[in-house]
Amino acid sequence: MSLLEVKNIETYYDLVYAIRGASFAVEEGSITAILGNNGAGKSTILKTVMGLIDDQPDKGSIEYDSRPIHGRDTDEIVRMGIAYVPEGREVFEELTVREHLLMGAYLRKDKGILADIDQVYTYFPVLGERRSQWAGTLSGGEQQMLAIGRALMLRPRLLILDEPSLGLSPILVKEIFAIIKEINQRGVTILLVEQNAKMALSISSSGLILENGRFVKKGASRDLLEDKDVKEFYLGIKSETSAKGFQRWKRKKAWR
Ligand code: ATP
Repeated sequence: MSLLEVKNIETYYDLVYAIRGASFAVEEGSITAILGNNGAGKSTILKTVMGLIDDQPDKGSIEYDSRPIHGRDTDEIVRMGIAYVPEGREVFEELTVREHLLMGAYLRKDKGILADIDQVYTYFPVLGERRSQWAGTLSGGEQQMLAIGRALMLRPRLLILDEPSLGLSPILVKEIFAIIKEINQRGVTILLVEQNAKMALSISSSGLILENGRFVKKGASRDLLEDKDVKEFYLGIKSETSAKGFQRWKRKKAWR
């Protein structure tokens, strides 16, 4: 069953369309990855789902758990169970790690909050070690972990992540993606936007390629990893034929 169903949405900034009739679905329990180059419209799609862009055309539909959310306030959407980690993390410099996690649970009144903070420390042990440290003094990677941890404190059913690998070292990227996978295996559906196509396709079940505000390819991630165009344009792997052509071209050039 689709947990999120987006049909034919359009989003514009200053009369210029950033999203032009995009449709996609996120299946319950999946990790779904939206890939694309700079400026393709990836962040805009997420912001549209989260109700963060005002005054948009009343076109298309967005349904979460079979209920319409298109045009609703962000606060209402969050209350329905969707947590969002924006690009660039947005942590508060003068709040400690623990204060952030408590703040993340602002909608909850249950008794499981402290146990969930411990669970976040289990996912990210470095946050446990630095629980009293101001967020502004954390490294970029630690801030990313904190932003994800804070979102998890809502106990979301759907977690939306905008470029979780941005600005992180390759080792940290691997670490963060392994934890995203673990969070998913514990029952949270995940929609993520990434420029790191290889990493995103290696942990996701399905992928969507966005170009100029339109989806140009959709499919199972394992199939996209083998797709000729995806390999060439998003994974930086030349196909065998173009590699042979390149060798021929190099030999010719050397002969001249
Ligand atoms: P990146 O990977 O670089 O973050 P993206 O795929 O997430 O890119 P968006 O940030 O969604 O792309 O931007 C899509 C298009 O909309 C771009 O042409 C961008 O310049 C434009 N855009 C984004 N935000 C605004 C804004 N607030 N006002 C005007 N135009 C915007």
